[in-house]
Amino acid sequence: MSTSTSCPLCQKPDTQLLWSNSLIHVIAVNEAGLPGYTRVIWAEHRPEMTDLYSADRAMLMEIVWLVEAAQRQVLRPDKINLAQFGNMVPHLHWHVIPRWATDPYFPQAIWAPATARNPSQLAVWADQQAILQNSLTSYHQVLTDSLNLFAEKQATT
Ligand SMILES: [Zn+2]
Repeated sequence: MSTSTSCPLCQKPDTQLLWSNSLIHVIAVNEAGLPGYTRVIWAEHRPEMTDLYSADRAMLMEIVWLVEAAQRQVLRPDKINLAQFGNMVPHLHWHVIPRWATDPYFPQAIWAPATARNPSQLAVWADQQAILQNSLTSYHQVLTDSLNLFAEKQATT
């Protein structure tokens, strides 16, 4: 079984596809309070990293590093969180989450309850988030350029 009609990730995801090849999809996760949140998804059903051939695993991780690098270059977060769970769907997928000390969950993981903030902290985050929203188009462009370059290099080696 490599794909399934009952699997939400095998269906057209309700998210913004930024880039894909035959094995991997890179999507923008549009969640409130988490600008730049990006997911790198293995297209077929492979639940564990060691289910992949080593060359495929290396490609998957290289794409995760390229996402991280584009986030650092354009969005300049305070930290980047990487996570891979796959408890709900049988697709390997890496969460690449730029984090700011002022974001709603910092310093906890984004799956934790929101951190208590005072009004001035909320105002700082609102301003920062507005700036980041304006940077997302640039981030997506830098990222897709980087992934296209990676794919070209792969095709010639
Ligand atoms: Zn699936």
